[in-house]
Amino acid sequence: MSGHPAAPQGTPTAGEGLEGVGRAAPPAFLAALTEALGADAVTPGEAVPDRHLADWSGLPPVRPLALLRPRSTEAVSAALRLCSEYRVPVVPQGGLTGLAGAAMPVEGAVALSLERMNAIESVDAATRTLTAQAGVTIQAVQEAAAEAGLRFGVDFGARGSAQVGGALATNAGGNGVLQFGMMREQLLGLEAVLPDGRVLPMLRPMQKNNTGYDLKQFFVGAEGTLGVITRALFRLQPAPRARATLLAALPDYDAALALLGRLQSRFAGGVAAFELMWRDFVAASLAWQHLREPFDTVHPLLALVDLDGGSEAALQAELEEALAEAMEAGLVVDAVLAQSQAQAAALWKIREATAELPANMHPPVNFDVSLPMAQIGRFVQECRAALEVRWPGHLSVFFGHIGDSNLHLSIDGASIGGDAEAAEHLVYDMVGRFAGSVSAEHGIGLHKKPYLGASRTPEELDVMRAIKAALDPLGLMNPGKVFG
Ligand SMILES: Cc1cc2nc3c(=O)[nH]c(=O)nc-3n(C[C@H](O)[C@H](O)[C@H](O)COP(=O)(O)OP(=O)(O)OC[C@H]3O[C@@H](n4cnc5c(N)ncnc54)[C@H](O)[C@@H]3O)c2cc1C
Repeated sequence: MSGHPAAPQGTPTAGEGLEGVGRAAPPAFLAALTEALGADAVTPGEAVPDRHLADWSGLPPVRPLALLRPRSTEAVSAALRLCSEYRVPVVPQGGLTGLAGAAMPVEGAVALSLERMNAIESVDAATRTLTAQAGVTIQAVQEAAAEAGLRFGVDFGARGSAQVGGALATNAGGNGVLQFGMMREQLLGLEAVLPDGRVLPMLRPMQKNNTGYDLKQFFVGAEGTLGVITRALFRLQPAPRARATLLAALPDYDAALALLGRLQSRFAGGVAAFELMWRDFVAASLAWQHLREPFDTVHPLLALVDLDGGSEAALQAELEEALAEAMEAGLVVDAVLAQSQAQAAALWKIREATAELPANMHPPVNFDVSLPMAQIGRFVQECRAALEVRWPGHLSVFFGHIGDSNLHLSIDGASIGGDAEAAEHLVYDMVGRFAGSVSAEHGIGLHKKPYLGASRTPEELDVMRAIKAALDPLGLMNPGKVFG
């Protein structure tokens, strides 16, 4: 028991249900935490700042038993050891930008914020690697990479607040996935602390390491249910020297797939974005942002493409040639090639209408799903038709990073009588029938728990529960999230 007070008699365990777990935590628990971490690292429940009471999910705030803000891996380890001894559950918190409710505090549990573990420990330009503590923001990682003349492979809107630990625990994606993959693919090494306080120091800077299970990946996408990530070792990418942006009008979804394939073959590793926008999305975007139609004719699909290359002139010339061939083959009907950064930004503005969704969709019911790439076009048709049968005249918009198999759909809440739950059933059932995933990027958290079974078989869920039981036998890590 490492010299710490034993768990009080009768303290319920997580196996007895969440009711009461941690509620009975005696003052001795907080005193022991204070002694181990220092007074300024332990904030009792009533004094926890509001920003730690909820994440971006929109769920109502919950006050935790206490907020812990350790400064080192050793302090995280000591905190988890005490939580284990006193049977107090723990909710890890990063930048609290998660959209699925995974970082929401749990009554009777401590919230463990990594915000003070915010050091970039090293950047090695020669081997293109970076080591950071879990509380470093994604933007700080990007900036440190840029200072070394390199870039970090993942970028997304919440970069300024989302942290390394949270982004790994949700396996975040966003821009760049087409070229470099999600957070999982950036990871060379990881340090994590198990719920009983043991530290797994897996920070080995080698790509090749076939020595059994790849344990670090267990913590990626686990949404804090298996342990606490404390440090990460990332691979970095060369910075691009030139970028070209193109908006192409396409006749149908099959043409989009064919165009993507051609561009990926021709510009190997250079296709940085391939954003597909269906007409409903484009029409809404132009109306909401008071923008002009980009082409003389209305087209069913637009693709916004970013390409990276060695020099502006060579990239532009190669792209013009590729476009002429695609038009000849009937894959592209019309196209605009940005001639400046300002023009590229103007084209991207059409795609950035997502920021307008909350103000214009009363409220929007948002979906972030994955589907086999070949099926996305058919899914959009069938989904739109099914929504129309159920709610004639409804408003929905479809768009996505189809190169990553990722489709977004937003429905105007008012146009479906506010019945978000019925819409979720309809869409997620269809995602299940298409063998897709109910969560492409944002995770399961609390929001998508009811639909996890649409994307995971009972056998898969059994294995996930067995891994959880092996690493967290007391069920203390982020209880009630994902499948808890
Ligand atoms: C404007 C906006 C744009 C977004 N765009 C994208 C996007 O393009 N792609 C995308 O994937 N997501 C996106 N998101 C969602 C969100 O930013 C990501 O899920 C992000 O990875 C969450 O990181 P965070 O640090 O805020 O984690 P939090 O929200 O604090 O936590 C998320 C989960 O990680 C766990 N966790 C946090 N830190 C740790 C740790 N150190 N160890 C173990 N578990 C931990 C928490 O318990 C929780 O389960 C967006 C969100 C917003 C608000």
